[in-house]
Amino acid sequence: MDGRSALAPLADKVEHGERLTRDDALALFHSNDLLTIGRLADQANRRRNGDRVCFAANQHINPTNVCVLRNTCVFCSFARMPQEAGAYTRSLDEVFAEADAARDNPTREFHIVGGLHPKLRLAYYVDMFRGLKARHPDVHIKALTAVEVAHLARIEQLSVSDVLLALKDAGVTSLPGGGAEVFSPAARATIADKKLTGEEWLAVHRAAHRLGLPSNCTMLYGHVETMADRVDHLLALRALQDETGGFLTYIPLAYHPDHNELGEALGRTGTATSGFDDLKNIAVGRLVLDNIPHVKTHWPMVTPFISQVALSFGCDDLEGTVVFERVYHEAGAGTPMWLSYDQIVGLIRGAGKEPVERDSLYRTVRTFEDWVPGPDVARAAGPEGPTFQISQRPRARARGQRTLPVLQGIESAE
Ligand code: SF4
Repeated sequence: MDGRSALAPLADKVEHGERLTRDDALALFHSNDLLTIGRLADQANRRRNGDRVCFAANQHINPTNVCVLRNTCVFCSFARMPQEAGAYTRSLDEVFAEADAARDNPTREFHIVGGLHPKLRLAYYVDMFRGLKARHPDVHIKALTAVEVAHLARIEQLSVSDVLLALKDAGVTSLPGGGAEVFSPAARATIADKKLTGEEWLAVHRAAHRLGLPSNCTMLYGHVETMADRVDHLLALRALQDETGGFLTYIPLAYHPDHNELGEALGRTGTATSGFDDLKNIAVGRLVLDNIPHVKTHWPMVTPFISQVALSFGCDDLEGTVVFERVYHEAGAGTPMWLSYDQIVGLIRGAGKEPVERDSLYRTVRTFEDWVPGPDVARAAGPEGPTFQISQRPRARARGQRTLPVLQGIESAE
């Protein structure tokens, strides 16, 4: 069956706002008729969001890259063992100094994620968030993935809900969507066999939603997952959203193969996902996740140019200014570390869309009817010194090359 004939029945469903089935979603992922998929997703997005494309003036902060799962998440280029070259852990004063870059910029959100440090306790994070809130009372704090929350619960011997309550009390407004990867147990056994299971990841977000903490959700694609894995992942997100309504946005995340073991094992070093697959993941996400308000494109992973095109493929949310992007640049992303406020607005305008600056909760901060492109907003360079520089880790494991038996016989997802 060619892609075009397979998609014909879906057009009717999208037209009438009917929910797509698992088979529909599989047909979309197996189709090469990208323009039809994009047109349908654009239709679904316009019905919900019109021509508005939002972004947040945000700043990423990664307090530590030390992670106890460093040797088992084989797709990750960010993490280090405590004594490994390039390992860092910020003191609270260093975090506050980095955050002070926000003072000279229109920052409205701190996006804070890091590794699972064996010794950093809940108090470190609570003190960090309280300190940030005291220094930047108008900046939202979106912090800690479900994986980090579960790690803190384990080392503190608290329930996940108790950790979430402590974070909320310290000023956290919402949770980022990282750590979901792809829920398929088989794919997880290959790329992250010691991480939370998909069910556990969903349980943390369910608990957050029940406590009034909305969150984002993600899917890491372009590694060993099958099309069925992608579909089942999206359906699990859709089912939780039916239950809680707590997801704000869905963000497909492109796997980058450099400086990690998985990229070497797959022979994919230097070859990131294709623009074709990046756009398809945006569009299928929009079509399947009919109950999640927003779909976001992450320009540090897929380039600002693909992100701009994605705005016509069902996407209504563009990753913001970022300031310090470390996680994907460690994995070989060749994109800029940050974009200026004006560059973000210009990208959206250049796609014929209406830019809207939003806060973490998707409330409108500013519209741009009278916007005149000007010189880029000056950005502070950020704290300087060796502790703030990226030191890319070698491609091979520092010790003990791990074999990946599960990879044998697995075809690349492309
Ligand atoms: S993906 Fe997250 S949990 Fe896994 S090694 Fe990297 S930082 Fe640690």
